[in-house]
Amino acid sequence: YKRIAEVDDKVGAFLRLDEENARNKAKSLEEKLANGNASASEILFGMPVGIKDNIVTKGLLTTCASQILANFDPQHNATVMEKLNGLNTITIGKLNMDEFAMGSSNENSSYKNVKNPWDLSRVPGGSSGGSAATVAAGEVPFSLGSDTGGSIRQPAAFCGVVGMKPTYGRVSRFGLVAFASSLDQIGPITRTVEDNAYVLQKIAGKDVLDSTSANIDVADYVSQLSGDVKGLKIGVPKEYLGEGVSEEVRETVKEALKVLESLGAEWDEVSLPHSKYAVPTYYLLSSSEASANLARFDGIRYGVRQEEPSLGETYKQTRTKGFGDEVKRRIMLGTFALSSGFYDAYYKKAQKVRTLIKQDFEDLFLKYDVIIGPTAPTTAFKIGENVDDPLTMYANDILTIPVNLAGVPAISVPCGLVNGLPVGLQIIGKHFDESTVYKVAHAYE
Ligand code: GLN
Repeated sequence: YKRIAEVDDKVGAFLRLDEENARNKAKSLEEKLANGNASASEILFGMPVGIKDNIVTKGLLTTCASQILANFDPQHNATVMEKLNGLNTITIGKLNMDEFAMGSSNENSSYKNVKNPWDLSRVPGGSSGGSAATVAAGEVPFSLGSDTGGSIRQPAAFCGVVGMKPTYGRVSRFGLVAFASSLDQIGPITRTVEDNAYVLQKIAGKDVLDSTSANIDVADYVSQLSGDVKGLKIGVPKEYLGEGVSEEVRETVKEALKVLESLGAEWDEVSLPHSKYAVPTYYLLSSSEASANLARFDGIRYGVRQEEPSLGETYKQTRTKGFGDEVKRRIMLGTFALSSGFYDAYYKKAQKVRTLIKQDFEDLFLKYDVIIGPTAPTTAFKIGENVDDPLTMYANDILTIPVNLAGVPAISVPCGLVNGLPVGLQIIGKHFDESTVYKVAHAYE
């Protein structure tokens, strides 16, 4: 808390702190230890953690950085919170984000901007900007974020930390406020690959409360961090080092490939031919799902209500005042794409393209162990630089989004600095093969 008091006025990573409860919990853990009623052999025992504000925390407001949920006090915990609490971690507070996780720069938070700790005039990335910035600023050793279309990896890249988007179905989504249910995943943001692997193996696994969580064993990722990548086959998609990716980022990633080569890995240039359609496909599908998911925020069931004489007016005013511009833009786009006259032309077509994008990955994984490229086309951009141009902002997601559409796991690890700003190396793996992703990331790191 001392560190947070020193730096968070500048960084803006936390939306709210839970200091009294956290201190009480720390005290009770100390007593348990002293009385021999607990053992500190669990690495996470007493570990402070920051949680993205779209993960529900019992008794601690969960706002999704939106005005519509300004007073939402959850009655239950997300499954990941139950798991962390079971390991006696201490939740320090809730982390800032783009409203409902829609954005790539954190400028869509309805409360305040997060600033990049490396350069306060720049964005931390988004939507888990608070989760990445807080770890980069040394406020907490790890945080949880969520990734629907890059929201863990891109901020991790911009802030020089490690961020993992697990395979879809690896981590329970129960208690993660739904944005696009077929894409959303929770994952850890940490300083090192080993920390990341450890946290994921503790929060992953089948959950009866989330029918899309997979009943596939979670490996002991940490014990597999051997550093050995000899003979490993890497595919490097030419689309990931082509036009649109800045020269400096490209060069930095090529240097990283040399390091992996020197460790005995081999790489070939490959292609993900349909990735060029990923941005429109993702924005159609994710907005369609969002338009359905966000229908529940009507002022009756959750959050802040604008009381009006009629029910219709109450809904209307609640949503008009409660949602920010970007959220409204997505709801309108999604409602349009799902409407009866346009469904075939937009939503259905996007679903078909999604299948092609997924097949591109599956084809490459017949021959390659991992696919590597940059996480984002540029380093962190200036606050305000892209706010008036949603399409440029969306285009920034070109390298992260295909991974969500395919459902495969991917990590971003720091791979150098360009003009004093961090660059992220993205390592993409086969479905449920987080082990190999971590192994390669760890060997490189
Ligand atoms: N930039 C993506 C979007 O705005 C990020 C979404 C996410 O991963 N939560 O939709």
